[in-house]
Amino acid sequence: MRGIPDLAEVEAMDAADPLRAMRGRFILPEGVIYLDGNSLGAASVNVFDEIEAAAKQEWAQDLIRAWNTAGWFDMPVKLGDRLGRLIGAAPGQTVICDTTSINIYKVLHAALAMRPDRSVIVAEGDSFPTDLYMAEGVASTRPGTVLRLEGVDAPTIEELIDDRVAVILVNHVNYKSGRLRDMAALTRKAHDAGALIIWDLCHAAGALAVDIDGSNADFAIGCTYKYLNGGPGAPAFIYAAIRHHGDIRQPLSGWWGHARPFAFEQGYAAGSGIRRFLCGTQPVLSMRALKGALDLWDEVDMTAVREKSVALTDLFIRLVEARCGAFGLELESPRNGAERGSQVSFAHPHGYQVMRALIERGVIGDFRAPSTVRFGFTPLYIGYRDVWDAVEVLEDILRTGAWQDARYAVKEAVT
Ligand SMILES: *Cc1c(COP(=O)(O)O)cnc(C)c1O
Repeated sequence: MRGIPDLAEVEAMDAADPLRAMRGRFILPEGVIYLDGNSLGAASVNVFDEIEAAAKQEWAQDLIRAWNTAGWFDMPVKLGDRLGRLIGAAPGQTVICDTTSINIYKVLHAALAMRPDRSVIVAEGDSFPTDLYMAEGVASTRPGTVLRLEGVDAPTIEELIDDRVAVILVNHVNYKSGRLRDMAALTRKAHDAGALIIWDLCHAAGALAVDIDGSNADFAIGCTYKYLNGGPGAPAFIYAAIRHHGDIRQPLSGWWGHARPFAFEQGYAAGSGIRRFLCGTQPVLSMRALKGALDLWDEVDMTAVREKSVALTDLFIRLVEARCGAFGLELESPRNGAERGSQVSFAHPHGYQVMRALIERGVIGDFRAPSTVRFGFTPLYIGYRDVWDAVEVLEDILRTGAWQDARYAVKEAVT
């Protein structure tokens, strides 16, 4: 391994960064190093232009006509196609709608209905909890459905796959450790056993170049307010491989998924294609903010994003271990950049207090119980110098014991 870079080398990395100009497209407060874009992405200038146009012109002036004239009605599929490019999906297979949790419900139901002779859902015991909560909810509506968990029922997902498994719900990048799974390999294993697979892309979309079509995946879901910068509560997405479209049945059969929503027929008739996953009226203002964010992504090459992401996270790990190694931090993320998403997690016995102290000093990451301090690196608006400066603050907090101040021990509602 090379030696630890000094400040001059870090500044040279910024100077050579092909994504450097993107930073100016985002609004970030003075004095803040924002390492939490994996929880809530930053706001770009584009987003405000879109929200303003949607509210002041289309809503206020055009009123109900805007559903047609401003294309509000088609936004879920139009924006879905544009998001699809970022996850390697050909057009017609991605739709923007609802929340990730709700989309998990719809997709799990659809997958189970496609494997009527099987009853097992496989998931990860250390998944983001809502994925498991939703799987429990789906199972509760289908007597006989069994949930098998990695880390609980067997050490690895691969060992849980057999001919009773209907569907595997799995994260491309783990929200806590940042571990990246091999999408093509696990998808092949699932298919060899006759099972379907749903990839949760919450921590992958906008963080790395996903190849959902090339991996032959069945379904995917994910959110748009993390690396994609769609804004707080921005609607989520669903991907379904085109080969499955005729077979999709999902129980949230609202009028937006109907074949003829404006015929106002009495009975439900599923629409064609990916529209089947729609349920009801979508949040237009949030959708328009997402459109602004996607306009920016149109200018971005995902290969460059991935290269910078690995370089940022590598730099952070090396600097933290060199300068803060004596203070009780243990790396929880894979050391090998190829096995890691765009975040780095360390365990610290007083992680909550350490993170609170960091945030007070302007270095915003987050804490995940029981002891993880988590730092997200978003290549569009984080540079190498930010990494350097964040480690300086972290080292100072640990060296001086500043985190021990009693006010940092008081838990807030959102960590
Ligand atoms: C962020 C995240 C979610 C969020 O779900 P919402 O329904 O949008 O609140 C779900 N799953 C994973 C893996 C996540 O990282």
